[in-house]
Amino acid sequence: MTTKTLQVSPLPDPKLPDPIVIAIDGPAASGKGTLAKHLAKELSFAHMDTGALYRLIALKILEHNIRPHQEDDIVRIAETVKEHFSVSDLDNPKIRTDDVGSTASKIAGIPKLRQLLLDLQRDFSTGHYNPEAQGVVMDGRDIGTVICPSATIKFFVTADVNTRARRRFDELSAKGISVNFDDVLADMTARDERDSNRAQAPMKPADDAVIIDTTILSAENVIKTAMFHIAPHLKNMA
Ligand code: C5P
Repeated sequence: MTTKTLQVSPLPDPKLPDPIVIAIDGPAASGKGTLAKHLAKELSFAHMDTGALYRLIALKILEHNIRPHQEDDIVRIAETVKEHFSVSDLDNPKIRTDDVGSTASKIAGIPKLRQLLLDLQRDFSTGHYNPEAQGVVMDGRDIGTVICPSATIKFFVTADVNTRARRRFDELSAKGISVNFDDVLADMTARDERDSNRAQAPMKPADDAVIIDTTILSAENVIKTAMFHIAPHLKNMA
């Protein structure tokens, strides 16, 4: 009797399913952040406001008196931030000023900086920082186009620039910060232009994104619209 050695192919690694990825892009004060936070809470998904990453680097360069054109110094700062990164760094209230936001948009076109932050964001999208969550919500400018081109569902949240400037003006006034509406509008218009026209990962809707215009939609209706599109993807969740 001859014995044959049975060739058994190795079993695939037991791998957890990839998290559901909800990508939300759009300009400043469009309501994307509010939507992202709400969805993450509602679905118990992990959330990353990716603008906060650029703001974190911007804060550091302002603290070190580095100018937006000093690209090598900015990349060095970004490497240090990345090396010691913890998701809670994004909660630093100092990154929330308009000065930091505007500086963030001035440095956001630096290719090496975007590359460093791309790896970190991709790690987040695959559940590296929150392995227990069944999904992630990421909001920014290039999530659906560059960071997560195969996201489960993509939204582009936008609104008329005057409406967005009015929201920002009201927000700053409510905090007791005295600002001129025309200055807020000019700053927002300049930021939109920088973000949309840069060579690296410009802000634009992904071809397969659902566009939500919040100019006249209430926050509640924005959430309802988004949930309508997300619901079919939740069926396979445990
Ligand atoms: O969203 P937020 O206003 O906090 O973003 C600050 C700046 O960071 C944006 O104006 C944009 O230039 C940059 N950004 C980016 N890509 C992202 C998120 C933010 O270039 N994914």
